[in-house]
Amino acid sequence: MNAIKVDALLVGSGVMSATLATLLKKLDSSMSILMVERLDQVAAESSDGWNNAGTGHAGYCELNYTPQGADGDVAIERALAINANFEISQQLWSSLIASGDLPAPDQFINATPHISFVWGEKNVEFLRKRYEKLSAHHLFGGMEYSEDPAVLEQWMPLVMNGREGNEPVAATRIEHGADIDFGSLTRNLVGSLEKQSGFDLRLGHEVTALKKNGGNNWHVTLKNRKTGKKEQITAGFVFLGAGGGALPLLQKSGIPEGKGYGGFPVSGQWLVCQDEKIVQQHHAKVYGKAAIGAPPMSVPHLDTRIINGKPALLFGPYAGFTTQFLKAGSKLDLIKSVSLNNLKPMVDVGLNNMDLTKYLIGEVMQSHQDRVETLKQYFPDAKAEDWSLAQAGQRVQIIKKDAKGRGKLEFGTELVAAEDGTLAALLGASPGASVAAQAMIDVLERCFRMRMDGGWKKQLKNLVPSYGQSLVENADLLKQVRNNTLSTLGLHEHEETEGYQRSAG
Ligand SMILES: Cc1cc2nc3c(=O)[nH]c(=O)nc-3n(C[C@H](O)[C@H](O)[C@H](O)COP(=O)(O)OP(=O)(O)OC[C@H]3O[C@@H](n4cnc5c(N)ncnc54)[C@H](O)[C@@H]3O)c2cc1C
Repeated sequence: MNAIKVDALLVGSGVMSATLATLLKKLDSSMSILMVERLDQVAAESSDGWNNAGTGHAGYCELNYTPQGADGDVAIERALAINANFEISQQLWSSLIASGDLPAPDQFINATPHISFVWGEKNVEFLRKRYEKLSAHHLFGGMEYSEDPAVLEQWMPLVMNGREGNEPVAATRIEHGADIDFGSLTRNLVGSLEKQSGFDLRLGHEVTALKKNGGNNWHVTLKNRKTGKKEQITAGFVFLGAGGGALPLLQKSGIPEGKGYGGFPVSGQWLVCQDEKIVQQHHAKVYGKAAIGAPPMSVPHLDTRIINGKPALLFGPYAGFTTQFLKAGSKLDLIKSVSLNNLKPMVDVGLNNMDLTKYLIGEVMQSHQDRVETLKQYFPDAKAEDWSLAQAGQRVQIIKKDAKGRGKLEFGTELVAAEDGTLAALLGASPGASVAAQAMIDVLERCFRMRMDGGWKKQLKNLVPSYGQSLVENADLLKQVRNNTLSTLGLHEHEETEGYQRSAG
């Protein structure tokens, strides 16, 4: 039997593969692409609206992107980089709306102010410093700051009402923040791809093996999960956009660049409220500070969400201990990922992160009432009966060797690519879907070097006008780009005001 041959095989139908397939088809419509998904639906793992927080991560409200050093200084570089990368995604989505590949923006993105909220002297001091540094940069020009409870009550009544005591409080706000239904975004992208010739989607099929043949092609084995029937595909390029499933496939590929990586899975849960009367009273994403000892991805936040067109409030995430790499995965995922190559780094991370493991187990053991007590720090009048628990997606944090060969745990995202550009894998989960466009442009730059130099770079500028230039450094370019994206995506720019409003004078 002759194997089917494609130019590119993308494993997984999440936002990453959907974005990469879209870019490839825009750059070369003659390319044959096969997307393979083990589940029966597109984007049913991390990219689904209910499985992630839907925050358009731009560093506006996430305090963990601006760590404070021992000298009290607040580092803003990571927030600047993430903000600029989010602008890349927004430019791509704007272009795809204009070309009819994406529907009206409110089908997947909605303006939702991004607020950071803190209490206590030290935290207020931190937020003020953070505000002063960030708002001085053009990327964060529209940021407002207040320590006045009356102002804060206007911004987020549910958070302020019923708050007792006179501890100092402070918040920053960016009005043009976004809530994104990444599930809807992804399904719309795949829907448009399916209308194009040369694109094929195979649902209910799992990639079980991949092997490089003598030349530059990969032989990929797919298994039909219902019938068990196996099939061979030959692909010139393979993208492992399999979310939590990317690490095991990277290990199977045997590429030297993938050696030594391990994964540390973390599950998540939310409290969800769909009572319209309550939902209507909150219109923001309000991020706080992570509890001491908590991992960065468990920063608590109270969010307005619009998922599949329906508004809801979400609070969390409550992280948890798990051994599964995918929500619909197997309890054996973690143990099966241990090999001679990554045994030492994984043991190192296990031994050096006992506190994290204990924290995650403690989170799982919480009762509904315990969770509601945490919620009350952000919504003092919350009632347990209005909220129910929902399971979020899985994150697989990266374990890799440090310079001394010891294992370390990383909370970011990493692209691992074969030297010859025939395979790439995306590991990790943060800042995630928000920066999908830049992450997939990185794939193009690492794996399609000749084509990029041969004309794709120029074409990319039609999709992402700022491509090749720095939005962190170029204020005029940002202004141009942002004016366009905010209006195309319906995220109206806040009128620049005096911003800094402090109650104490
Ligand atoms: C709790 C939580 C909160 C988050 N919050 C945010 C947020 O607020 N903002 C943000 O930008 N990002 C957030 N993220 C991250 C974001 O959800 C992910 O980075 C993004 O969805 C990853 O997309 P993906 O396409 O790589 O993976 P996925 O969406 O997980 O897709 C991978 C797909 O591959 C399939 N697959 C796996 N193995 C195989 C195989 N062997 N064969 C075939 N198919 C396979 C899976 O079934 C799945 O459908 C969050 C994630 C979590 C878990």
